[in-house]
Amino acid sequence: MKALVKSRAERGLWLEEVAEPEVGINDVKIRVLKTGICGTDLHIYEWNSWASATVPLGLTIGHEFVGEIVEVGANVADFERGQVVSGEGHVVCGRCRNCLAGRRHLCAHTEGVGVNRSGAFAEYIVLPMTNIWLHAPWVDLDVAAIFDPLGNAVHTALAFPCVGEDVLVTGAGPIGIMAAAVARRAGARRVVISDPNAFRRALAEKVGVTEAVDPTATRLREVQLRLGLQEGFDVGLEMSGNPAAFREMLENMSHGAKIAMLGLPSEAMAIDWNKVIFNQLTLRGIYGREMYETWYKMTVLLESGLDISGVITHRLNWRDYEAGFLAMECGRSGKVILDWRE
Ligand code: NAD
Ligand code: ZN
Repeated sequence: MKALVKSRAERGLWLEEVAEPEVGINDVKIRVLKTGICGTDLHIYEWNSWASATVPLGLTIGHEFVGEIVEVGANVADFERGQVVSGEGHVVCGRCRNCLAGRRHLCAHTEGVGVNRSGAFAEYIVLPMTNIWLHAPWVDLDVAAIFDPLGNAVHTALAFPCVGEDVLVTGAGPIGIMAAAVARRAGARRVVISDPNAFRRALAEKVGVTEAVDPTATRLREVQLRLGLQEGFDVGLEMSGNPAAFREMLENMSHGAKIAMLGLPSEAMAIDWNKVIFNQLTLRGIYGREMYETWYKMTVLLESGLDISGVITHRLNWRDYEAGFLAMECGRSGKVILDWRE
């Protein structure tokens, strides 16, 4: 089958012919229909220090996908051929303390699809049945292809109650924009997003925020005054991984505010801890999604009117994957979808 493989220790990704994956007794084999390109895939494409230390050469990458089941293993009773599914990108051990307690997202031995095990940028992918999410029949295929990052957004935005709160999102990447839309849907009063990238601020405004701010031109203190905030933002969603963004967030939170952190800083990040202590802030790290509560929440949020389709800016044939990666690299993109059907 055709696959996009990280076969050399340099920038790029190579279209190669690889063996079709074998189906074990507990596995499900899926024909990939559409995939999303994640920022992680871009890091692997660019071969930054994290990627070169983490990803084995020869790996088929990719983890955001929707596909159709073509085969199930002998032990699999809950899934059948023809069903439209996505896969949870973390394959957990099932045996550690957290797994046994049902907190699978906290597994101590998680493997990443398309990071440490074979991924979805291919004609077929095989996953354990415990990693399969069956889509409701009405879910749009493009949206189904990005359930993985939508899950990051939903998990982060629902980490703390938003009803009646003023929410600050730093970073209007695809995940920040979707998180802002979820926070609105979850009852926030004002949702402010910040990003130096004008294309992304415009996209955020289209998908729905109170205000999109350029942090290089406007201080959040001014925005607070303009919007009539009393004592600062109540909930922060850090979605940039940028130290300056996080420090500006800490300057603008109310006493007792809650911050959920998804953005990955590229190196250790210094902050003024006095802000955290005297303002009695709660900081919570977020990784991945909850299996499968977040997947359930995504589905019902969409069913009740959440619309994040506007975050998709590029729909390309998979053979044009280079163009997709370049669009992401230059920052004039939201979510990029590759179609694998022909
Ligand atoms: P992205 O890189 O597309 O978006 C980050 C945005 O932050 C960019 O638009 C950038 O312009 C903006 N930014 C840069 N400096 C800023 C500043 N000073 N103030 C405000 N914004 C600033 O990433 P994404 O795909 O939307 O993902 C968001 C973040 O979450 C990334 O850091 C990514 O690595 C991370 N991530 C974490 C997990 C997890 O499980 N924890 C999962 C997926 C992604
Ligand atoms: Zn485990």
